[in-house]
Formats: sequence, structure tokens, C-alpha cells
Amino acid sequence: METTETRTEVQPIDCSHYINGTYVTSNNGKNFENVNPATEEVLGVVAEGGKEDVDQAVRVARKALKGEWGNMPLRQRSAIIRKVGDLILERKDELAALESLDTGKPIWLSKKVDIDRAAYNFHFFADYMTSIGTESYQQDDIAIHYAVRRPVGVVGLINPWNLPLLLMTWKLAPALAAGNTVVMKPSEVTPMTATVLAQICSDAGVPDGVVNMVHGFGETGAAITSHDDVDAIAFTGETVTGSTIMKAAAPTLKKLSFELGGKNPNIIFADADLDDVIETTLKSSFINQGEVCLCGSRIYVERPIYDEFLEKFAERAKELKVGDPFDPETKVGALVSEEHYRKVLSYLDIAKEEGGNFLIGGKVAEGLDKGFFVEPTIITGLENDSRCVSEEIFGPVVTVTPFDTEEEVMHQVNDTHYGLSSSLWTSNIKRATRLSAQIEAGMVWVNTWFLRDLRTPFGGMKHSGIGREGGAHSFDFYSELTNVTVKL
Ligand code: NDP
Repeated sequence: METTETRTEVQPIDCSHYINGTYVTSNNGKNFENVNPATEEVLGVVAEGGKEDVDQAVRVARKALKGEWGNMPLRQRSAIIRKVGDLILERKDELAALESLDTGKPIWLSKKVDIDRAAYNFHFFADYMTSIGTESYQQDDIAIHYAVRRPVGVVGLINPWNLPLLLMTWKLAPALAAGNTVVMKPSEVTPMTATVLAQICSDAGVPDGVVNMVHGFGETGAAITSHDDVDAIAFTGETVTGSTIMKAAAPTLKKLSFELGGKNPNIIFADADLDDVIETTLKSSFINQGEVCLCGSRIYVERPIYDEFLEKFAERAKELKVGDPFDPETKVGALVSEEHYRKVLSYLDIAKEEGGNFLIGGKVAEGLDKGFFVEPTIITGLENDSRCVSEEIFGPVVTVTPFDTEEEVMHQVNDTHYGLSSSLWTSNIKRATRLSAQIEAGMVWVNTWFLRDLRTPFGGMKHSGIGREGGAHSFDFYSELTNVTVKL
């Protein structure tokens, strides 16, 4: 049986910092416990970093920038980056099991999405880095101007807990491809796969000091963001943390890339293919327990199909198996931590106070006494400005609201501080293109969801982010351009 084998073969690991090619304990000697959210058992201990550890990591990262890494030919660097992807795939089962132990997500999802994409992030940027060029202009017979790309320097990579390895590699691969050195800070609740990743980078040939990692709570992140000798911060996490980081980074004028929270609309017109809508909406609502920044947690349905949609959607959502992340039948695992579980449950109480009707769910999953499990929940009858419709819950909870006109739904969709992504379902191509331009979001999916091409711009507007990642956009962030003018 895949489940039992996978679980018993992989031992959870203790997580140390990784500085200058070596795993090290904290200077202050402190550790904290890492808890399995599906069983509430302790998985191991994690080094609790402080300012001294961050200082040390930044110092070696600065030194490594000038060393072998900074002078390595492009093809050689590309081969090392490709090798990191290869080694991630070689260790796929182990990494997937560690990710599921840490996050509570189903093991099939860890394998199919998290680990495969983590490897692909390296493979993609290994290719991309050898093809990207810069601008050049000939100014009559007066001069030639050309731009030279160089690394930004030492970059802090700070990540959340929902897609730990996928998001860390989404930053690390282009940062390395552009020639930078890094200090990574994984989320305190999901430290295991990043810890293994550091070793994988070394095994692939990344020189010591190029990839460093310091574990810890928010204060470790704060030490990185305020550090004098860190040149840029790539951050994914909550909007409120982004705001704190912006203030901390202001005195040293760091370059910032922010991928922040979302409350994404899923807009369904009556002329859409309803079977396709239901299948995809099940995923966009409940995959990864709803803990994906791109999940479509506000569903708007055109009135003629509202009742039929609700009936079919609820029927299918009820079938989703909640429980053990290592059971291949499980579709919804555990929420990532007790703190987050309490937050999601508190929103269910708020929904009741706000007059919401629970079509399904609304409670702790039955028969699961240990662990942080919440049933898939569909709520109707809430106003657009209610807290459950307007605030990010980040759990298996969606609201469904009927609409009558395009104008009405566009007003509801855009009446939010967030602007990360959206899905639009219609068979009318004119309407699709018209409304795609009106939706205030960094990404609009038409008749699909989560379909990605890594060359495309990824990111949010409004309070959902600053800047874009993906292809050339990542390179622009992780590079500085120097323009050279040669007088003829
Ligand atoms: P947080 O913002 O709480 O934490 C993210 C990271 O920032 C963690 O490593 C955290 O450390 C660290 N951190 C906390 N405080 C500070 C600080 N003052 N300075 C520097 N770093 C700090 O996010 P969550 O981990 O709760 O992740 C969920 C959020 O991430 C959701 O809002 C979700 O929408 C968003 N997200 C956005 C994505 C996007 O692409 N737009 C993709 C995925 C998630 P520690 O954990 O130790 O506190």
C-alpha cells in the first residue's frame, strides 16, 4: 500500500539553519517544535534563528557573490540549476512525504503539484537563463547603447506555509539563474522541505555560501528585511506582513517583490459548460484545503443557473473525502496549524452571525478527533460587504452569490482591496474579452483555473502584490541593468 509505505519510509527531520554549505544550530541555542497538523504529534525540532544567525548568513552570501558563483560561465551555472531540478525529482517520494507531514496536504497533491512544479521551476529557469537577452540601440552614427544584466546581490527569500517547496523554488531558481546569492526563510510551520532543498543545491554543485537558510519566526524575517547588506526581498505571504516588510525595508531602500493575499472571484455565466464549471470549481474551492492564494473563494453565479449550480456543486463537494493526508482517497487534508484552524473556525462563527446559510459543512470534520480538519463548506445568503465574502479565510470555505447583470457582478467582483486572480466562465468570447479587461486582478482565467505557463506574468494588483514573477518578469526583479553607451 502506497500510503503506509510512504509514511513509514520517510522519517521527519529536525531542521537546522544552512549557512556556508553546513547545517548549523542557532547562535542562541534555541529550538522550537514542529507539529504534524494531521495528528498533532511533534515531528521534530527547528532551530530558532535570531539576528546573529541572519548576520552570519548575509555575510557569507555577500562573500559568495564575489567568488566562484559570480564568475561562473552561464552554461555551467545553467547546468547546476538544471541538476537541482533533477535531484528534486530523484528525491520526489521523500520530499512529497515530508511536505504532506508538514502541511497536512494529501500526498497525491504533494507529488503531482508541489514537488513536480518545484523541479520544473529549476528546469524552466535553467533553459530560460540561456535565452534571455537585453536591449541594444544604434543611435545613427553617433553611438551604440546596450544594456548589461547583472545580479541584484544578496536576496532575502521569505515564504509562507501553503506551498512551501513550490514557492521557495519559484523564487530560488530565478534568483540563482540571475547570479544572485540568497538567504531563505521558510515559514516556521513548514520548514522541512526547504531544509532538504539546501542540501540538494549543494549536491547539484551550487558553491558554499550561495544558498543559505535561517529558520525562525517573524523576527528572523524582520532581521532579513531590515538588514543593511541585503539588496532585495522577494516575499510571499499575507498582505499585512507585506506592509510590515515595506516599512522595515524602507530605510535601506531595498528592491521589493510582493505576492500577497487574495479573495478571488469565480464568475459563472449561464451560458458556460456547467459540468466543466463544477469539476473545476471543486478544485478552485477546496484543493489544498482551500489554502492556495489563487483559490476562488467568492463564487458569483448568474441567476438562471444558480439553483442548479448549487445543487450539483454541493452534491459533488459532499463526496470529497476529508482526512488522513497519506490515504490516496483523501481530497481534503488537515489545515496547516492549530492557529490557522482556529482562524478558519472563527470565520464560520462570523458567517453564522452574519446570517449565512450553510449548504454543506460549517464544522470540524466528523470522526477526526486529532488534527486540524474542517469540512468543505459552502455558504449562501451573505452580503458582498460581509466579512466572510470580503476577507481572506484561506480554508475550505466558499461563498456563493447570485447575480442578474454584468454591471452588478463587475461591481461586486471589484469591490475589494484584493486583486490577485479570477476565473470567468462563459461561452461568449466577446463577453469574455470585455470583462477580462474590467476585472481588477493580475490574472484572469477564462473557462479554466490554475492553468499556468511559467513565461507569463504572475502576481497581483491592489493589496495582492507588487510586481510580477515569471519568465522575463522574474529576471527583471532579480537583475540590475546597466546601460553602456559607446560613442562611435
Ligand atoms: P505570513 O505573512 O504570516 O508569513 C509569510 C512569511 O513571512 C513567513 O515565513 C513568516 O515567518 C514571515 N514573516 C512574518 N512576519 C514577518 C516580518 N515582520 N518580517 C519578515 N518576515 C515575516 O503568511 P502565511 O505564512 O500565513 O501564508 C498565508 C498567506 O500567504 C495568505 O495571505 C496567502 O494569500 C498568501 N499567499 C500568497 C501567494 C501569492 O502568490 N500571492 C501565494 C501563496 C500564499 P513565520 O511563519 O515564522 O511567522
